[in-house]
Amino acid sequence: MAFVITAPCRNELAAECVEVCPVDCIEKGDDQYYIDPDICIDCGACQAVCPVEAIFYEEDLRPDEEVFLEKAKEFFRSR
Ligand code: SF4
Repeated sequence: MAFVITAPCRNELAAECVEVCPVDCIEKGDDQYYIDPDICIDCGACQAVCPVEAIFYEEDLRPDEEVFLEKAKEFFRSR
């Protein structure tokens, strides 16, 4: 399981999450930040500081947000 960054990040790109992640698993993509689901330790620190509430625990994603987990996997797979 992992935390996942969703659509509101696209207009914000605030990056507070990057500063607080204890395992450095958040990186900037072309249009939003992404969390590496293989490294995330589910601490929730990023979710607490996101100013636009873009970050959700994987199991709490709405069906229409699940694409963002796939986007994150693809982002880190293609690097
Ligand atoms: Fe990093 Fe914790 Fe957020 Fe996972 S839940 S991305 S480990 S700050």
